[in-house]
Amino acid sequence: MRTPFVAGNWKMNTTVAEAEKLVLEMLDGLGRIGGIEKVLCPPFVSLVAIEMMLKGSTIKLGAQNMHFETKGAYTGEISPLMLSDMCEFVILGHSERRHYFGETDEIVNKKVKTALTGGLKPILCIGERLEEKEAGKTEEVLSRQVRNALDGIRPGGPSGGSESRQTQDEHMTARLVIAYEPVWAIGTGKAATGEEAATTIHFIRGIVADLWTEALAQDLRVLYGGSVTSANIGEFVSQPVIDGALVGGASLKAEEFVGIVERTAEIRRA
Ligand code: PEP
Repeated sequence: MRTPFVAGNWKMNTTVAEAEKLVLEMLDGLGRIGGIEKVLCPPFVSLVAIEMMLKGSTIKLGAQNMHFETKGAYTGEISPLMLSDMCEFVILGHSERRHYFGETDEIVNKKVKTALTGGLKPILCIGERLEEKEAGKTEEVLSRQVRNALDGIRPGGPSGGSESRQTQDEHMTARLVIAYEPVWAIGTGKAATGEEAATTIHFIRGIVADLWTEALAQDLRVLYGGSVTSANIGEFVSQPVIDGALVGGASLKAEEFVGIVERTAEIRRA
């Protein structure tokens, strides 16, 4: 059984004071919901303050990005070493990073490797653009993104490994979460249908099974992301292959986000 999972990606929104206020508004509501992993991903500058606020709660913290090196002359960048003290998760390969900041599959691959070896759990985002969907290239794009992002990451370790390291490394690969986020659905109010997302997520698990093993693919959590709200979340999480959601806009409204988490836990419990 895979534990359901909902993460809120606040993107470049909220000052530190606004972030603290938002956490205060959702803390009780989220805290009451069990049987689900709940993750908040605020901007970097709010991580320290929010980590303090979440101490003793069941809500986890994630970052929205990181550099693939652990330290060095990379002005303005944040390394996994700086994050791993306070964050459990890190969003990697978000379409906004790929499209506005030129992140290639190769860069995403380096980031996934460093995150895993640095003790962070990557939420790896993949998804096709509208023109790719319309050209019938969705599977080709997703297959390329998954295979490239996970290149060299095997149950035997990030670059292969000995038999004796197998168990530990299988644990490491199990720390990955994939978020299927069709780019045409992000921030547009035009979500995929539950059925559409389920078919695509089934395909994504198939790629992971091909790369690793069927058992690892079955353990892997795969989320849907793209215009998720408290009104449409049920359509997604009632599909057994969809383990939860990565939520952008709606995670900036406390009531909406708590509603999404609540509904997910409720449907998965049933
Ligand atoms: C996202 O940015 O990951 C996202 C899914 O955004 P939204 O929910 O606003 O579509």
